[in-house]
Amino acid sequence: MTDELLHKDHPAFADWQCRDGELLIGGQPVGLLAARLGQTPFYAYDREKISRRVADLRAALPPSVRLHYAIKANPMPAVVQHFAGLVDGFDVASANELDLALDTPMKADHISFAGPAKSDAELVRAIAGGITIELESEQEMIRTVKAGGLLGITPRVAVRVNPDFKLRGSGMHMGGGASQFGIDAEAVPDLLRAMGDLGLSFQGFHIFGGSQNLNAEAIADAEDQIADLAIRLADHAPSAVRHLNIGGGFGIPYFPKDRPLDLGHVGARLQGTADKLQKALPDAALIVELGRYLVGEAGVYVCKVIDRKVSRGQVFLVTDGGLHHQLSATGNFGQGIRRNYPVAIASRFDTPAAETASIVGCLCTPIDLLADKIAVPMADVGDLVAIFQSGAYGRSASPSAFLSHPEAREALI
Ligand SMILES: *Cc1c(COP(=O)(O)O)cnc(C)c1O
Repeated sequence: MTDELLHKDHPAFADWQCRDGELLIGGQPVGLLAARLGQTPFYAYDREKISRRVADLRAALPPSVRLHYAIKANPMPAVVQHFAGLVDGFDVASANELDLALDTPMKADHISFAGPAKSDAELVRAIAGGITIELESEQEMIRTVKAGGLLGITPRVAVRVNPDFKLRGSGMHMGGGASQFGIDAEAVPDLLRAMGDLGLSFQGFHIFGGSQNLNAEAIADAEDQIADLAIRLADHAPSAVRHLNIGGGFGIPYFPKDRPLDLGHVGARLQGTADKLQKALPDAALIVELGRYLVGEAGVYVCKVIDRKVSRGQVFLVTDGGLHHQLSATGNFGQGIRRNYPVAIASRFDTPAAETASIVGCLCTPIDLLADKIAVPMADVGDLVAIFQSGAYGRSASPSAFLSHPEAREALI
């Protein structure tokens, strides 16, 4: 029955095709892809799925909304290049991500740099590149002024606000309490007044409420509260608000009980928010910034069965993959409890389940568990295992140096 659940009912599987029993990624059989890449494990990202996801968002969200991609979700250069032709801007979180963004045709004034602990060197690189710095503290504002002075350039800045409310139903809470991110909403008016004399070009606000949220109503409520907060803070701004980045936090279904986000509802409610914003702050572009939702479902992590063993009656499929490449799938990337990601035998994708097996990685630690007692077809040495929903926070969010095995390859197909 577990197999029924995984193969038929899990939303993650609904969209994947197979041919001659093999999973197809971007139209290519997974085995052929492994041969082309010359190794397992690898990540494969489906270009068409990424494009379709952006198109679905465009159709659901109000037409005035600008869509940004948060590069940290998946910084593969080819993926970032692909997004450059699809979205309206990028969010970067380091100077190296900044280089990735500036290597694309994306215009610098559509790129913003958020994140705590930006170094002086990073600030200089960002200002020289002409991108917008999301200020995370008053000290960072002062250092940004100095960095601009060194270059003789007026830095473009926005204020990242730590909101005075919390986003409901989010996998990861950001905002509402004490935080290392952003400037407390109640401290922002003074900061904005001080900014007027500092030689900074004020662009707007960035108010990010959370991540991995599947509750459309909660997201819409937060977006509306964020707009209200920005409208209140705008009274203190040194110049007109040019943009309001309301974050995103749209989630994807990882586990059998997760239901996909009701994008239509988010979009319909956001229209009301956009109308309100347009009236109050007519110069402000409304930005939704997403990582996981844009790329998470387009990616698959593939590894190979190296050993099949039975220990006291329990079947283990031992693979050449593991948490050093796909930490999230093992439940060790900030998740409270470990639950199985959607996992399948990719080389027997349409074969019915015949046994229960656990799929483990090659690391010498019991936490290297990719799937715990799932229903699978009989699989053996050489079979390929696919972990779905692996397009975001996969390879770059995993401790690849742990145990010194080879790194996973990546392909955009
Ligand atoms: C991580 C991050 C995002 C992306 O979050 P997702 O949950 O992947 O959509 C967006 N904005 C900021 C500031 C972030 O730090």
